[in-house]
Amino acid sequence: MRTTAAALAPVAAVAAAHIVPAATWLPRFRALCFPRLAGAGRPDHIALTFDDGPDPACTPHFLDELDRLAVRATFFVLGERVARYPELTRHMAERGHELAVHGWTHSRPWLPAPGRDLRETARAAGVLYDTTGRRPYWYRPPYGILTSGRWAAARRAGLRPVLWTAWGRDWTPDVTAAAVHTTVTAGLRGGGTVLLHDSDHASSPGSWRAALAALPALITTCRAAGWTVGPLSEHGLHPPRRA
Ligand SMILES: [Zn+2]
Repeated sequence: MRTTAAALAPVAAVAAAHIVPAATWLPRFRALCFPRLAGAGRPDHIALTFDDGPDPACTPHFLDELDRLAVRATFFVLGERVARYPELTRHMAERGHELAVHGWTHSRPWLPAPGRDLRETARAAGVLYDTTGRRPYWYRPPYGILTSGRWAAARRAGLRPVLWTAWGRDWTPDVTAAAVHTTVTAGLRGGGTVLLHDSDHASSPGSWRAALAALPALITTCRAAGWTVGPLSEHGLHPPRRA
């Protein structure tokens, strides 16, 4: 047994170095210890962010509703889907929204793959630039799991990692708009960053409808508290340093 444990120790050490930074996934830990990574911004502002698009079945509904509510947001998109839906991606930017990098595909980082992280993050940032003519600033890894490899890849691509301070748990089966609103606003403070999804690509089928339907009440709640709702670019965060 001792021999087996000793043989496995280096493997465990590699795995720990890979995944320990991902403890920032824990929302309370993150909010307390890494407020800027969590997306804590200026106190009179709420950053509204959507993950997992673009998705032609759902994203256009969000664009219309955000127009109606006079709100601009940040969409963390997947490079593979930007390449598949370039016109929709351009359309999102033209309607005043900010686009940011969520990865190339929606993969889970079970094992360290720093080379793949570097290639895919740079590729996703590149396809966004080629499609919209704008360089993205922000990076949010799938599932919010920021491994050391993904952190390094984001920095190399000139992106700043931003997670969230409040989520709507809008990916769950049978979720309702009221539940999304209650969950988001329960712990929301001025300067918060809200995570919702404009696609059910990695969520329960049709769950995006609850996020969409929650938007009017969410915006009303924020405005009643004296907060302006907008994209991360207006949230008072420092953009990444670039050469
Ligand atoms: Zn995602």
